[in-house]
Amino acid sequence: MRETARPQGVFDFDQTLTLENTHYPDRFRNFFCVLTGLSFAAYDQLWPVAKQTLARGLKENPQAHGWFFAGHNVAPGGADVILFHQNLAAELVKILKEDKSYTASTLSLPDLADRSETEKFLYRIYRGSYSADDLLLKPELVKAFEELSEKVQLNIVTNSAPANVKRVIDKEAPEIAGFVMIFGRAQKFAIDPAWDLVDMELEIPGFPRSILLRRHAYYNILEQIMGQGKIAFVAGDIFELDLALIHALKKQDQRYSDVLLFLTQTVFSREFAEYEEAYFRKGNQSGRFLVGGLREIPQVLKTLK
Ligand SMILES: [Mg+2]
Repeated sequence: MRETARPQGVFDFDQTLTLENTHYPDRFRNFFCVLTGLSFAAYDQLWPVAKQTLARGLKENPQAHGWFFAGHNVAPGGADVILFHQNLAAELVKILKEDKSYTASTLSLPDLADRSETEKFLYRIYRGSYSADDLLLKPELVKAFEELSEKVQLNIVTNSAPANVKRVIDKEAPEIAGFVMIFGRAQKFAIDPAWDLVDMELEIPGFPRSILLRRHAYYNILEQIMGQGKIAFVAGDIFELDLALIHALKKQDQRYSDVLLFLTQTVFSREFAEYEEAYFRKGNQSGRFLVGGLREIPQVLKTLK
């Protein structure tokens, strides 16, 4: 006899299910210095200046900052600790190039005018600074997943390598390892302009920039999950990467129309993406919820039934 398809829940991984990565800034400092040849002493002197300039730039000129992938700006520059440091790296390079006291030295710096060279440099910095071993799962995750799994099949959809995510879960939350499906290398950042199922951009009043929607690779994974059962909700910490595509699909594809969207609050979203939180705070009637802790998700689902 055929089993009835279960509703599906979709979670992002980094910073949605994990705590803020507090080791990242130190690893970034080490790797930035190794890669460029800058001394730690000079880095320690420069980074507070770069950080201040960046914090101002993120608020005043959000178009010029972000995660640039294949020439597209695909996520806000202050969305999490990693993206913040990607933009910090670019800011540091700019300062070092302009400061005459460094020009005579043999620092290895990219040409910021060359977008592809800069993307490669920043990707190396990210690869050298990120370690899944630093990740800690949110303390309430196991309880939240156990509550949710009574009604919903749980899926994690992440840009990370699936083996890394599995290792963290096996180590820290073996209780849930058996009933969570992991979809890795989701490429939520990849924009395919030729894929025209959705509009190119989304404008939301109050948002400082338009959002690119044609995340074809991510859509293919969502469709794979839809094949297992109807998606009940998607939860993520970065609207542009995790939720915007589904937000658009809700309006044009009946199967997605009542998918609930959960935006999880983070240290960075509070500081640099207040507009996202405000949009979700007043969105309950439209199926958008801002959540502080993961256990709020099963609570919301209960109140709706
Ligand atoms: Mg995330």
